Amino acid sequence: MAHGKSQFAVWRCGKCNTVLKTTAYNKTNNDSITKEVKKYCKKCRSHNIAKRKDAKKSS
Ligand SMILES: [Zn+2]
Repeated sequence: MAHGKSQFAVWRCGKCNTVLKTTAYNKTNNDSITKEVKKYCKKCRSHNIAKRKDAKKSS
């Protein structure tokens, strides 16, 4: 499903930088995508602010 205009985003824990989640979304809706979200980090064992970083699919 995720191909063509899809943009991949990686969510990283703001504290330990661990990747919490990878998502794909439509580029055209980029402005409406949140850039920070609170997520549970297994490494920190607490809810932290996760920051989104866009990632290009290299393959
Ligand atoms: Zn963490």
